[in-house]
Amino acid sequence: MLQDIERYLACPLCTQALTRHDRSLRCPAGHSFDVAKQGYVSLLAGDAHTGTGDTAEMVAARADFLAAGHYRPIADALAEAAAAALAGEPEAESEAESEAEPESESEADGLVADLGAGTGHYLAHVLDALPGSVGAALDISKYALRRAAKAHPRIGAVVCDAWRPLPLRDASVELMLNVFAPRNGPEIRRVLRPGGTLLLVSPTARHLRELVDALGLLSVDEEKQRRIDEKLGPYLTPGARREVEFTLRLGPQDVRTVVGMGPSAWHTDPERLGAALAALPDPVEVTASVTVAAYRR
Ligand SMILES: [Zn+2]
Repeated sequence: MLQDIERYLACPLCTQALTRHDRSLRCPAGHSFDVAKQGYVSLLAGDAHTGTGDTAEMVAARADFLAAGHYRPIADALAEAAAAALAGEPEAESEAESEAEPESESEADGLVADLGAGTGHYLAHVLDALPGSVGAALDISKYALRRAAKAHPRIGAVVCDAWRPLPLRDASVELMLNVFAPRNGPEIRRVLRPGGTLLLVSPTARHLRELVDALGLLSVDEEKQRRIDEKLGPYLTPGARREVEFTLRLGPQDVRTVVGMGPSAWHTDPERLGAALAALPDPVEVTASVTVAAYRR
């Protein structure tokens, strides 16, 4: 429910806290944001454009793909890493409590935010493993967030732009998830509380390699993880990581979906792609290979 996470939200225009007034969230400066009847709220700054978000069709295809369990090993690894990150919290960080205003429910384990949450599939799986936590699904696609808002009873869904200041209060996040999604180092650091963890899932160079060859897709380069570490280095400290690799058995529609799901935009001519897809065996065996990496503030 959106109400579970409202106390962690910040006005995207002036960064002040938001409070509920009937069907809207408002800041002390008078900026007001309507809560959609589907249960999510849009906290986009006024001049942001949503054209880059996923369409309803793309979202539906991805939801079907994930619901079929193809990426279940990734969700499981993420949930395990999330539980480990929270269990391994170092104690005695009271010196950094200054800006933490959400004190009233101190028995809760805090906020898990998924940046680029899509339909909330991974966040819901992580929340199942963290019964004391609430989740914020952040994405630019309202179609995805309509689903995320219903993906778990403890999820609140917020439309926002990952490349703008995130609509979350300073040091409000216990655990940040980022699965095949854009990451904004300075903002992730700002919203994580001291000692908080980012769990980042990114493809290795072996991810979908059979499709990369057969369909002429852009491959993930060998240096990706090093480049991610370099970009996040000024903001977060690398911690535990593990590789998760398994075999997918995909039919033609699954292949189309997984190609469209990224890691990042694949630059493929649709006609050539269609011909190459038709030439694949059905089902086709494809390697899935990702790194689950922890970073700590
Ligand atoms: Zn405001």
